[in-house]
Amino acid sequence: MSPEIIFYFIIGIIIFNFLLDSFLDYLNYTRFDAKPPEEIEDLYDESEYLKSQNYKKDKFKFGVVQSTFSLVLILVFLSVDGFQIVNSIVNQYADHSILVSLLFFGILFLVSEFLSLPFDYYFTFTTEERYDFNTSTRLLFWKDKLKSLLLTVVLGGVILGLIVVFYNYVGIDFWWYTWILVTIISVLLNMFYAKLFVPIFNKQTPLKEGDLRSKIERYAHKMNFKLENVFVIDGSKRSKKANAYFSGFGKEKRITLFDTLIDDLEDEEIVAVLAHEVGHYEKKHVIINLFVSIITVGFTLWLLSLFVSEPLLAQALGVEEPSFQIGLVAFSFLYAPISLVLGIFTNILSRKFEFQADDFAKSTYSGEYLSSALKKLSKNSLSNLTPHPAYVYFYFSHPPLAKRLRNLENNS
Ligand SMILES: [Zn+2]
Repeated sequence: MSPEIIFYFIIGIIIFNFLLDSFLDYLNYTRFDAKPPEEIEDLYDESEYLKSQNYKKDKFKFGVVQSTFSLVLILVFLSVDGFQIVNSIVNQYADHSILVSLLFFGILFLVSEFLSLPFDYYFTFTTEERYDFNTSTRLLFWKDKLKSLLLTVVLGGVILGLIVVFYNYVGIDFWWYTWILVTIISVLLNMFYAKLFVPIFNKQTPLKEGDLRSKIERYAHKMNFKLENVFVIDGSKRSKKANAYFSGFGKEKRITLFDTLIDDLEDEEIVAVLAHEVGHYEKKHVIINLFVSIITVGFTLWLLSLFVSEPLLAQALGVEEPSFQIGLVAFSFLYAPISLVLGIFTNILSRKFEFQADDFAKSTYSGEYLSSALKKLSKNSLSNLTPHPAYVYFYFSHPPLAKRLRNLENNS
């Protein structure tokens, strides 16, 4: 096989991905004007439904512009041997392989962040603003960007640096050293995410004594579920959309409720949402997801180890000398189809888990309250009531609202 064939293979994968995404988006677009399913016919009144359709259409157009821009950019970059150019610039200024890799990815990361900034800005302050979701200020937007940039540079830099160290010292075996490192980091992240990272962006306060707190405690007590940490997060400082999530395990487990959720929902509806989250924990979904992601990471790293030092891959990107950073870039393009397939499986599993957690909430608390909570949440975020089945199959981590309501209605 020649480097040219691999080069065109990479181009083929990129174009295929773009076409598939665009096709699925288009299929979904054709259903925006469809009549909502019976169960949720009266969720919106006429003017609200029109508003939700316009919101979907605006997001669709925005997506088309953004993905076309990215496609053109990456194709141009590849055809002028962009990676080779960055690689040789970096090699001029640094001679240690760790520093070379860090600078190489640092430059690519910063440039891509810079190019996506106008899109993020436009989406937040035009699209989200138009539909009255955005509550973020320009100052907060820039502060958020700066903080996440620093966090990525520091954390990403340390992890990448360690991987290159492994690669330099043990060669191909670097994959399982890296696997252990990434596993430790993801377990720690899962446990301490709420304590370490959330405070950088949000304020969390323990849910104060009162009706809601005692209703939650009564449910937890009934379920024999040790839940000392129920926190309220100030999500309202960025968006009116509401959410709740579960994180950590063992003693570190906690439920986080957005303040917007508390404003929008009745106490009983919140307990039902919480019962759904407890369902994820009790049904071992949290552990299974973590396990699946550890296995996936191991598989990906093993594959990477087979290809990373292959000179043909480096040459396909116009670089004569193979190196860790070039091998990794070429591999990540070739890996895209595998990642697509893995993503589909992950979503199938996730949708199954959602039904199970809904059933759990129904059998241990109330299906009616969960249904009304789900309806309110969908309505307040103008969510899509008529997604195309193919779009759901590829992209949805949660089943569409109508299916969840039907499931809650039927299963007893
Ligand atoms: Zn869930």
